[in-house]
Amino acid sequence: MAVERTLSIIKPDATRRNLTGKINAVFEDAGLRIVAQKRIQLTPATAGAFYEVHKERPFYNDLVSFMVSGPVVVQVLQGENAVAKNREVMGATDPKKAEAHTIRAQFAESIEANSVHGSDSLENAKNEIAFFFAGTEILP
Ligand code: GDP
Repeated sequence: MAVERTLSIIKPDATRRNLTGKINAVFEDAGLRIVAQKRIQLTPATAGAFYEVHKERPFYNDLVSFMVSGPVVVQVLQGENAVAKNREVMGATDPKKAEAHTIRAQFAESIEANSVHGSDSLENAKNEIAFFFAGTEILP
């Protein structure tokens, strides 16, 4: 297994409920290291560009509105097999289908307000990390 980096976003439903620390503890307990982190307010343009891949999906406009509804915490997680490991600890998109103890099973409010984003491939992780972070902001 290789050491990888992946992009994580703690979404507005979770920052609103003051869950950043609880979610970060799940990452750290799973062996993922938070090597970059910042709390930011997304604009509609930035959220729309980030989720460009979903532009044709019926939920795109709602998703962009949700992502700008409050601050988010963007972060880079590093560790062995980090992309798959993060997807595992996040749980399924729909919290009703997420395995017990995953972040979404524990904290998500709905399929949309599901508390976290995580890159779904190593290639997307590289692009998504570069979307939010300069190399100098990542400190292993
Ligand atoms: P993820 O990789 O598990 O985050 O899931 P996707 O890439 O398929 O979807 C991106 C995000 O869009 C999800 O995390 C949800 O916030 C939202 N989303 C996905 N499916 C739906 C849906 O059916 N309805 C709504 N309202 N939002 C959705």
